[in-house]
Amino acid sequence: MENNGGQDETQTILQIFQQHQLKITPQRVAIYQALLNSSTHPTADAIYQIVKKEYPHISFDTVNRTLLTFAKIGVVDVVEVFGGAKRFDPNVASHHHLHCTQCGEITDFEHRAYDDLNVPDDIRRNFKVMSKRVVLRGVCNACRS
Ligand SMILES: [Zn+2]
Ligand SMILES: [Zn+2]
Repeated sequence: MENNGGQDETQTILQIFQQHQLKITPQRVAIYQALLNSSTHPTADAIYQIVKKEYPHISFDTVNRTLLTFAKIGVVDVVEVFGGAKRFDPNVASHHHLHCTQCGEITDFEHRAYDDLNVPDDIRRNFKVMSKRVVLRGVCNACRS
């Protein structure tokens, strides 16, 4: 089926790249697109598996380095992980995570009260807070049943 959103999405990606003065290459666009279309906070390897289908000669190292570059300039976020491979998040807007400790699934959720969390003064004095994210760890419904 024809996806009418495809053209718009490419435009958006090119805009984001331009805003961050990131050199546009087809591989970079494909990597970002794969991340954007995934809601699972994928690892570099998962992105590599997707991009490889379109660019069979791309190396894991290129994919990994590109993702780290994205993270460094703030186009994507690196998700907190408790051991295991880094995971990436295309959603850099304020949001919070549900983290299933059994299957490892990370789900986004939004909650204003968490966005507005007050940072205690003694922490503010010793630590410059750049962003706040609440991570709820637990067991998802699929794993519970
Ligand atoms: Zn689970
Ligand atoms: Zn997220």
